[in-house]
Amino acid sequence: MGTPCDCGTALCEVMCRDCTQYRGACRACFVKDHKYNYFHWAEVWDAELGFYRRHDMSLIAPPLAVGHGSERCDQVPEDTPGLPFTITHTNGVHRTLIHRCGHKTDPVEPLMKSQLFPATFDKPATAYTFQVMQNFHIHNLESKQSAYDYCGSLMRLTDNAFAAENVSTFIRGAHLWSVVTTDKRMGHLHGIGEVLTCRPEGHSVLLCPACPEPGFNMDPKMPLNLPEELR
Ligand SMILES: [Zn+2]
Ligand SMILES: [Zn+2]
Ligand SMILES: [Zn+2]
Repeated sequence: MGTPCDCGTALCEVMCRDCTQYRGACRACFVKDHKYNYFHWAEVWDAELGFYRRHDMSLIAPPLAVGHGSERCDQVPEDTPGLPFTITHTNGVHRTLIHRCGHKTDPVEPLMKSQLFPATFDKPATAYTFQVMQNFHIHNLESKQSAYDYCGSLMRLTDNAFAAENVSTFIRGAHLWSVVTTDKRMGHLHGIGEVLTCRPEGHSVLLCPACPEPGFNMDPKMPLNLPEELR
């Protein structure tokens, strides 16, 4: 710290430990380098205390613009104050600021476009990144990690003295994520029921091509009460 930044106009002041081999930069360069990594923690040098203080990016960068791929919505004036928002990423819980999209009255769609999964669909003020949802899903299936323990580890990653994460909100979000991704994979969100009309509506059982399904891989008129040996 205190060395000239690569831009040559200011001194290095901010460090990132989430990037690989980041060398430190001035505030403006740091923000530019993290345009698509808004949830990296900004370690800002405190000259008075003589150590880095970890902050959310919103302290040194404009609020996170949602719905337009990190570009500010043209319906939102530049000096609009950011909306306080809690976003949980794999590296902890961020108390951040966002700029909503001014084109949509429904706040959910722009959040989803920005890969943020809202904890509630009615006036959301909390969201989870898609990465943290996928991360928990895999941990939960593979190592049987509970949502409570996963929230505990996120709390530790944020700050050891950080207040507890709202576990019930996370559990609800994780359940919803599981239902939505299952519906997507089973093809329901793409209208597969209109093509495969022989399947029960909204089912989420994996397809077994060997299982007899009347109208799909067997004659629909064939009686189902055949003796076992003739099936
Ligand atoms: Zn610079
Ligand atoms: Zn970084
Ligand atoms: Zn917009």
